[in-house]
Amino acid sequence: MAQNDATAAHAHPIPDRHGQNLFSTDTELHKLLALYLPADLLAHMQPHFERLGGLAGGLLDDLAGTADRNPPTLEQRTRTGLDEQKIVKHPAYVEMERLALSEFGLAAMSHRDETLGWKGRMPPLVKYVLTYLFVQAEFGLCCPVSMTDSLTRTLRKFGGPELVARFLPRLTSLDFDELAQGAMFMTEQAAGSDIAATATMARQETDGSWRLSGDKWFCSNPDADFAMVLARADNGPAGMKGVSLFLLPRRLEDGSLNHYRIIRLKDKLGTRSMASGEIRLEGAIAYLVGEEGRGFVQMADMVNNSRLSNGVRAAGLMRRAVAEAEYIAAERRAFGRTLEQMPLMQRQLDKLRLPAEQARTMVCQTALALARSDAGEPDAYALLRILTPLIKFRACRDARKVTGDAMEVRGGCGYIEEWSDPRLVRDAHLGSIWEGTSNIVALDVIRAVKREGSLPVLRAHCEQLLADAALPPAFAKALRDALARAAALAETAAREGGDVLARQAASALYHCTSSIAMAWEAARSGSAPRLRWAQLVLLHRVLPRDPLAPDAMPADWNSAATTRTAKATA
Ligand SMILES: Cc1cc2nc3c(=O)[nH]c(=O)nc-3n(C[C@H](O)[C@H](O)[C@H](O)COP(=O)(O)OP(=O)(O)OC[C@H]3O[C@@H](n4cnc5c(N)ncnc54)[C@H](O)[C@@H]3O)c2cc1C
Repeated sequence: MAQNDATAAHAHPIPDRHGQNLFSTDTELHKLLALYLPADLLAHMQPHFERLGGLAGGLLDDLAGTADRNPPTLEQRTRTGLDEQKIVKHPAYVEMERLALSEFGLAAMSHRDETLGWKGRMPPLVKYVLTYLFVQAEFGLCCPVSMTDSLTRTLRKFGGPELVARFLPRLTSLDFDELAQGAMFMTEQAAGSDIAATATMARQETDGSWRLSGDKWFCSNPDADFAMVLARADNGPAGMKGVSLFLLPRRLEDGSLNHYRIIRLKDKLGTRSMASGEIRLEGAIAYLVGEEGRGFVQMADMVNNSRLSNGVRAAGLMRRAVAEAEYIAAERRAFGRTLEQMPLMQRQLDKLRLPAEQARTMVCQTALALARSDAGEPDAYALLRILTPLIKFRACRDARKVTGDAMEVRGGCGYIEEWSDPRLVRDAHLGSIWEGTSNIVALDVIRAVKREGSLPVLRAHCEQLLADAALPPAFAKALRDALARAAALAETAAREGGDVLARQAASALYHCTSSIAMAWEAARSGSAPRLRWAQLVLLHRVLPRDPLAPDAMPADWNSAATTRTAKATA
């Protein structure tokens, strides 16, 4: 009887986006990729992006939901009674590992000469676009993937030739039974942000080998095949100069477990699919990486790579949240109209889109800076050095708000665990905590200003974008003036006692840079919405405004041509 009843639930199905291809439906991303990737590479990658987009909107999303509801567990013994610790992962998580690490080669592609059929090294942007699609379904696994990629980068950069030759093949393998995963054991109970307080000891034996002892308090992917570990050589100086970097294998050459134990797994708000644990090192055998006493500097390279990946992940989470909200707004009806026909909802959607679009612009800009820096181009390192903490700081904070506010667009269903929103909200909150909290990362922006001379390089980069964009003069001037004020604030923050301004300065630099880059993208791609978003960022995020005044875009920010295009596409 209920089947024929017009009041029954099935007569009013809740709009469900499941099964949509997250790449092919993202037309704005297509425009960006045409700008940022060489045509031959984009043509080669198109089917791979399509495939991952399809998976992320379907199978991968299902696997992620299952893995989230079935977190890993720690087993202490084998059934035969051997004291062999093991983290038991749900098959859904293992299948996601296979897809990410083996099939798409996400952790290895920056370190191999052929991946996904492309001959030669993949540029960072391809890896980040794939990550951006993958993370829209699964966030937790992206941490081990990024740590494996970053560990390999750090090993190649600082490890001795013998160490690299020995371990690189497994770290860059695409064979799922053969490949190795990475981790990073840095944080201790009394040494989180304050790495100089590291207490884990490294003792050198008479045969030259190193043994590590001490507790590590937060260790994601704790049973990884290799971990980069910070420890203090027992004859070394106090403070940062005494901290060295070590490569810790999970198993020794005879196949037995190395001398460290996973004490317990953490019960986390998000990233529930992926294990994070506490570790006790009990004379574990490890290999010194690079120079003794340079641990922090070398680890900083690994952390920066992970911070950029965190920015990419935040951008992906926001995109998923916005795309879900847009879909619901187009499909769900109330008061005889679709939600998207309602002016207040249109405004709400715009507020969600803005930070999501800023973040993906900054992903593209930072990925290009990374490629140029690795190629040794002058000034590219200084640019990368400031763009990385900028995106980690602001995009991760924005993801908290965007995922939370997007949840509301689904109404009551947004709060129910069978939809994507709760997982997005839980996962999004982590980005601002790990790999450096917001305060620490904002201070790192200021460190780049002080020590790397990043500010003039960032300004020159933005000036070049403005010159290429040929914007209406009044809008270009407003952008230039805003950037000059943001730079002045960052300079004040970099002076003695200016720390308190670090977050304000980091936000201002992020908004100005992203607004300028979005305006450049709009000019190049002819995207009218992108130009409007660039203007809204400046208007709402940077310029002083009367909170009681209605929204008004200065008339002279648009040329006659852009006004016509905007009207036509509105
Ligand atoms: C789920 C999860 C997984 C993690 N995985 C790993 C991992 O795999 N490997 C690893 O090494 N670590 C990992 N971490 C640890 C994480 O990186 C740290 O928690 C983080 O860096 C903060 O350190 P803390 O917890 O010691 O906080 P604290 O350093 O004690 O900071 C507490 C507060 O003080 C603030 N603060 C500190 N110094 C300053 C300052 N100078 N100025 C202003 N404010 C300041 C911070 O911003 C923060 O708000 C993980 C954490 C979580 C939650």
